[in-house]
Amino acid sequence: MTQAATVATNNGISTYSQEIVDLDRRHVLHPMHAFDTINKDGALAIERAEGAYIYDTEGNRYLDAIGGMWCTNIGTGRQEMADAIAEQVLKCNYSNMFTDMTNDVATKLSAKLAELAPGNLNHTFLTCGGSTANDSAFRLIQFYNACRGMPDKKAIISRKDSYHGTTLLTMSLGGKDLDRSPEFSYLDEGANDIHSYKVSSPNHYRYGGDLSEQAFGDKLYQEFVDKVAQLGGAEKVAAFLTEPILGDGGVVPPPANYLKRVWEYCKENDILYWADEVVTGFGRCGEWFVSESIYGIQPDIIVAAKGLSSAYIPMGACIFSDDIWDVIAESDKGRMFLNGYTYSGHAVGAAACLKNIEIIEREGILQHVREMGSYFMQQLETLYDLEIVGDVRGSHFMACVEFVKNKETREPFPIELDIGKTVSNFADELGLIVRPIINLNVMSPSLILDKEQCDFIVSTLRTAIEKTIGAMKEQGHL
Ligand code: PLP
Repeated sequence: MTQAATVATNNGISTYSQEIVDLDRRHVLHPMHAFDTINKDGALAIERAEGAYIYDTEGNRYLDAIGGMWCTNIGTGRQEMADAIAEQVLKCNYSNMFTDMTNDVATKLSAKLAELAPGNLNHTFLTCGGSTANDSAFRLIQFYNACRGMPDKKAIISRKDSYHGTTLLTMSLGGKDLDRSPEFSYLDEGANDIHSYKVSSPNHYRYGGDLSEQAFGDKLYQEFVDKVAQLGGAEKVAAFLTEPILGDGGVVPPPANYLKRVWEYCKENDILYWADEVVTGFGRCGEWFVSESIYGIQPDIIVAAKGLSSAYIPMGACIFSDDIWDVIAESDKGRMFLNGYTYSGHAVGAAACLKNIEIIEREGILQHVREMGSYFMQQLETLYDLEIVGDVRGSHFMACVEFVKNKETREPFPIELDIGKTVSNFADELGLIVRPIINLNVMSPSLILDKEQCDFIVSTLRTAIEKTIGAMKEQGHL
């Protein structure tokens, strides 16, 4: 029982819950803080997590279909993880990895990642999360080209609607217009010598128009080739940065063959292929990494985080090829890779990742996702009969439902209606957490879901959407 059960306040919630909500309002600036919502309603205060569920300070249980933030892959609250972490804390909670020191667990983790990653991706730079791993990949690319005597080969081509993190650099490489805050500045198109350029989003449902998926993919490929030419050719372009399946930008699997053709072009033209697998990696789509297993692509760099530790400890990894290593390791005497975080290769984090990987292997979680994730997607597709469900897309346990005002024309609801949030608020009341992103509900639950839990998500979401349709009709929006 939670402390919440103690005393109820006037508005029906306990004094403990009220205290947390008040303290939060007074002291906390949240990631992507929504001032309006928090000022009005306060935050939903969570105090316990177990498996695929979270519990608020009132003791209410929710199935967390966001999986934390695409990250609680093996499920929360595992004794075995707690034991591995505690053991490492007592053995050696920290030992720095700078310059020429290492620790045994971070070393073993790097070797394990070499085993799991495709092809000759045998080297790893460990960080504290996805943004810092992408920042480090960027540095690595600059370093590699500098070592090769090609310091002007520095343009990075990424895509509209992509998300790569929230540091100054990674927000600039990302392509979500709605993430661009008018209060902040960004590094675009040569600003401060950071050469970041964008090509179109691969979202066929939204931007494909009358084109078939194949024709849309061909158009995207051609746009990439043209962009390279426009930037002065391959000698100016360092890398293509891509999420294999767009995550935050609307869970968009790529049109068939588009990414593979871009990769082949990159390979032929000495442009690095940098796959951001922060979400898609570590089982979310039934594979360690999807680039090769699903799309037949052998990236030069893979960035991972989230499921790497299943969020037991913040960790990220930039995993890269022998080809890059061979160049940088041979570089001039005295040259240093001057990039590092205090917590790079954190011993407790590395121990958590190793245990997490062991659990994924031992419990056959990848195979489970291939089966249960396919079932989940099939069941989600039953929502198509609802009048505002325009698109259901994704792969396995990475899914999204897009709401539209008019299915025929795909006309979206006005942004100020915040339709995704309306659905997710109804879902909250029914014990289900889904992630609203404007006109979408995004889902990325723990990978251990069983059939009953998949069914619960789909049936609860159906009810929440029906309630939303009712509310929209009442308010004259439908
Ligand atoms: N890359 C992708 C594809 C992501 O979805 C995210 C976070 O959601 C990041 C990078 C950034 O990771 P982090 O929040 O751990 O810095």
